[in-house]
Amino acid sequence: MKRRLLILCLFSLCCALPVFAQGNGNLQIHFMNVGQGDGAVLISPRGEVVLFDNGVRSLCHLPISYLQDLGVEKIDYHITSHYHDDHIGCAQEVLTEFPLRRLAIDRGFIYPSTNYPPKNNKPGGTFWKYTNVVGSKRTKATQGMTVTLDTATTNPVRIKIVALNGNGKVKVTTANENDLSLVAMVSFAEFDAVIGGDLSGFPLSHYKDIETSVAPLVGQVEVYKVNHHGSTYSTNNNWIETIKPRIGVISVGSNKKHGHPTKDSLKRLHDAGVKTYWTHSGTGANPKAGWDKIGGNIIVEVAPNSAKFTVTYNGDNEDTYNMWPTSNPLFAPSNTLSITTTDASSSVAIEPKYAWSRRARVYHYSNCIYVHNISPKNYESGDSEPGGRRLHKGCPK
Ligand SMILES: [Zn+2]
Ligand SMILES: [Zn+2]
Repeated sequence: MKRRLLILCLFSLCCALPVFAQGNGNLQIHFMNVGQGDGAVLISPRGEVVLFDNGVRSLCHLPISYLQDLGVEKIDYHITSHYHDDHIGCAQEVLTEFPLRRLAIDRGFIYPSTNYPPKNNKPGGTFWKYTNVVGSKRTKATQGMTVTLDTATTNPVRIKIVALNGNGKVKVTTANENDLSLVAMVSFAEFDAVIGGDLSGFPLSHYKDIETSVAPLVGQVEVYKVNHHGSTYSTNNNWIETIKPRIGVISVGSNKKHGHPTKDSLKRLHDAGVKTYWTHSGTGANPKAGWDKIGGNIIVEVAPNSAKFTVTYNGDNEDTYNMWPTSNPLFAPSNTLSITTTDASSSVAIEPKYAWSRRARVYHYSNCIYVHNISPKNYESGDSEPGGRRLHKGCPK
């Protein structure tokens, strides 16, 4: 045992790459059964861990025990879709148990504004707990920001922020928290997945159609984390016909208030030939035989350079799917500023290069932690240095 450890250490040193217990050489995305909300954990082939949302407030034992069972010890990146407490309701609990090593990337707003900073020193809800636990690691996402995992290998995993705050190809003005969801794409050679929180696709109720504007930035994917738990107001036909998923994953629970997933969103998926996997039976439509499977934790796994991926559900049931024959041409990270983090196993590329407040005399490198303090209405950015302002000295390069 000692000798194995020594060999492992020597291997790690000579290759300058960390090896973690839970990395198994494949890309794994675990859509955790967290109740009526979202929480997914990505593990890169070499064991870097990214959490996309973290579960539902009051049900935090679910993501914590699942991550413990996986052998996760730390989270490298946390990516928040939006600030509702069915998405980041366990930030404090999960990130205390599994410390955040690098960045917490979110859409850079303050929510709800009346609750921050907390009045009378009273903790003021989910958002405050999230910002408190991630501290200076909080990073404002920008459109095109790319996180690369396993950078020193021939099979890196890339996560690109394709849309946020109502901005897709065009800007849709909205104040609805679901509509403002950040949309992340995961790419691993020919494999692509899209995870977009509670994004809406219909200008109904208090929602707007954001999906139609975001779809052309996503392109074809293999796996679609179904927007808004299979709500009536999401997954429109433009979206589904553009992203052409092989499968959809629906994250739902037993909270009757929601009635997710809905009959109509499922019909749109089925009509487009998309089979779905649910984390729970939900409180809406019944699953259709041959199309929908209720599977608890849904695990998508992809071997390097494979033309297939597998979906594991209900413990050890496994389905195999073919990927689209070509990789998604939209994915290529654009001209970006690369920030290489401590151990060179991953990096973050951000565009644009600089950001500043319309009202301030200083400007920042866009990854500077002070950027997230800029009010969205004053936020400006660019790749060249803005005239008439001086560079903020405390920023990293
Ligand atoms: Zn939600
Ligand atoms: Zn929401």
